[in-house]
Amino acid sequence: MILVTGGAGYIGSHTVKELLRAGYEVVVVDDLSSGHRQFVLTKHFVRADIRNRQALREVFERHPIEAVMHFAALTSVPESVADPGRYYDVNLLGSLNLLEAMRAFGVKRIVFSSSAAVYGDPEKIPIPEDHPTRPKSPYGKSKLMFEEILADYAQAYGFFFVSLRYFNAAGSDPEGEIGEWHEPERHLIPIVLEVALGKRPYVEIFGTDYATPDGTGVRDYIHVVDLARAHVLALKRLERGGESKVYNLGIGRGYSVREVIAVCRKVTGRKIPVQEGPRRPGDPAVLVADPTRAQKELGWKPQYTTLEPIVETAWQWMLKISSKTFKCP
Ligand code: NAD
Repeated sequence: MILVTGGAGYIGSHTVKELLRAGYEVVVVDDLSSGHRQFVLTKHFVRADIRNRQALREVFERHPIEAVMHFAALTSVPESVADPGRYYDVNLLGSLNLLEAMRAFGVKRIVFSSSAAVYGDPEKIPIPEDHPTRPKSPYGKSKLMFEEILADYAQAYGFFFVSLRYFNAAGSDPEGEIGEWHEPERHLIPIVLEVALGKRPYVEIFGTDYATPDGTGVRDYIHVVDLARAHVLALKRLERGGESKVYNLGIGRGYSVREVIAVCRKVTGRKIPVQEGPRRPGDPAVLVADPTRAQKELGWKPQYTTLEPIVETAWQWMLKISSKTFKCP
C-alpha cells in the first residue's frame, strides 16, 4: 500500500488516480486545509495533520505501507515570505515527522514533491538538475532543505528517494472527476479562466518589461496528469532498486503570460481583459525545465506537449465547478 500525503490536493489527487489505475492500494493522509474530501479517490482516508506524530504513527500501525508519496505542504511563495515560521513548521517539521514515522516502521522509499523554486534566478535556460540552487523564498528553501534531509536519511538510514522538481502544474483530469481548485486561486491559468467566466474583472500582468520576446514572464506548464504519471514511474524505479535521484518535471518549453492569455481566449472564445502592472519582487523572467533526465531515466514522456490541450482540460473543469448543478459536499 502507498501512503499519499496531501492526496486531497490538486497534484496529489491526480497522482492517487494514476496509482489506483496502475493497481496500487492507496491510503491518503490530508488535513483538508486546502484539499477537498471529494478529491480523495481511495477508500482509505485519514484526516490528519502531518505535524501530528501520534496520528502518523497510527496510520503506519494500521496500514501495510510500503512506500510514501509526499505532497502535503503549504505552497504559496509570497505567503512564505510573510510568514516563514508557519512554512518551516509544516514543510520541514511536518515532513521530518513523516520521515521519522517511516523510519520507526521500516518504510524506506519516498517520492517527494519538490519545486523549480529551489533554483532561484536561473543562470541558464533550460534549467538542468545540476544548476546551482539558490532559492529566494522560505517556500523554496523548505523544499531544498528537505531534499538535503532526504539525502542524509539515504546515507545514514538506507532510505531511497526521488525528488521531483515540478515547474508549473496546469490542467485537470480529462475525465472531469477532479481538477485544480484552490481558494484563493494563485495560478495563472485558472485565474485567466476565471476572468473568461466573468468571476474577475481582468487579468493583472505583473511586469511587461522583462527581457523576453513580448516583455512578460515565461513559464513551463506541465499537465497534472503527466506529472502524476511521472510519480508512478519514479515509484517503479525505486521498487526496482534504483538509486536516489532528483528530476525536473516540465515540458521543456516556455509560454509567456501574454501567450497563455491568447491560448485561453482561443480555447474559451471569450473576452479576457488585461491590466498591465509592475513586476512582482522575486519573479524570474524565464523558468523553463530541461526534462531530459526524467525522460531518459524514468522513461517519462509527457502526453501534453503544447498549451492548448492543457488549457482545454482546465476550462472543462472550470465550467463544471462553476455550473449551478455542481455541488461541493
Ligand atoms: P494543494 O494545496 O492543492 O495540495 C496540498 C495538499 O496538502 C492539500 O490537500 C492540503 O490540504 C494538504 N496539506 C497541507 N498542509 C497539510 C498538513 N499540515 N497536514 C496534512 N495535509 C496538509 O497543492 P498542490 O498544487 O497540489 O501541490 C502539491 C505539492 O506539489 C506541494 O508540496 C507543492 O509544494 C508542490 N508543488 C506544486 C507546484 C504547482 O504548480 N502546483 C509546483 C511545484 C511544487
